[in-house]
Amino acid sequence: MANYDVIIFGGGPAGMSALIWCYSLGLRGALLERSPELGGQTLDMSHRVLDYPGLVAENGRELRDHFIAQLDLLQLEYRTACDIAEVNLSELRARCDGQWLQARGIVIATGARKRKLGIPGEDRFEIRGVSFSATRDHSLYAGKKVSVIGGGDSAVQNSLILARVCPSVTLIHRSDRYRAREDWIKEARENPRITIINNAEARAIEGGDRVERLVIEDTRTHEIKTVETEGVFIRVGVTPNTEMFRGQVELDEVGFIKTDRRQRTSADLVYAAGDVCRPACLSVATAVGYGATAAKEIAMTIRNSYAETTAE
Ligand code: NAP
Repeated sequence: MANYDVIIFGGGPAGMSALIWCYSLGLRGALLERSPELGGQTLDMSHRVLDYPGLVAENGRELRDHFIAQLDLLQLEYRTACDIAEVNLSELRARCDGQWLQARGIVIATGARKRKLGIPGEDRFEIRGVSFSATRDHSLYAGKKVSVIGGGDSAVQNSLILARVCPSVTLIHRSDRYRAREDWIKEARENPRITIINNAEARAIEGGDRVERLVIEDTRTHEIKTVETEGVFIRVGVTPNTEMFRGQVELDEVGFIKTDRRQRTSADLVYAAGDVCRPACLSVATAVGYGATAAKEIAMTIRNSYAETTAE
């Protein structure tokens, strides 16, 4: 059994910030990440990051590299590609790569992943024409006719990225009310390579060895149409990574962890930070703040309980 003050689940900005703040507050922290590398959703950010105070990065990966450099400078403990077989929040312990880790407080910062549509063909064609990231995959589709599904920042941004290398991009949204930034929608509307279809829902992705067409249904007339396409990019929001904690901590109706303004969850000495607790603003800047808050709250609680014990 390895003992820590704080175990942090998740290596995105919220988790990395919590680890740095543990160090500042004199707590021994260990960060556990299931993916092979740290960064979480920053790894999908292709744009120049100008809204993170203190530094400008060419993309999310570069911003993430600054975070890692700071963890390494402080010689903090983080593990990637972790096999987290068991988590017991009431006992504040977890089994990782066959070893039990015991903590005095836990921060859940497992973030969120891209939501799927759950339509026929979506799984079958993954890596053969279905993609969840234009940032990662755009070069594979250069010169091809592609479609993007969604109406938020991600879908519109993906359409703009793809239009740089694809002759035809069809953006399909289930209504005519967009969540995306007005300036990006305007840019998409003005781009001659982008066609926008509103009020249409994707029903199936079809083809032979690879994707050949997308079946859509008009939400008002229920007319079924097909869009010839060689690639379908699905960007319909995110879903929280909370399966591991289900039944141990209170979740909202779609699975995000419920917290109070001090990042406390329903479980004693268990805190949540970042996208996993459905923040009003999804950004690196806010995730970092939530991570810091969680670490600070754990430090105060541990200190108070120690003071109470010694006063008795
Ligand atoms: P989002 O803002 O939640 O938008 C999701 C979109 O997908 C909505 O238009 C939604 O339609 C649609 N949708 C959801 N479920 C669907 C389904 N089953 N079938 C069809 N359409 C569906 O998600 P996002 O665009 O991924 O963005 C997530 C967060 O990241 C946002 O806060 C966004 O601002 C942020 N982000 C920021 C940047 C940036 O600043 N550089 C870039 C990307 C993302 P309805 O509106 O009808 O629900």
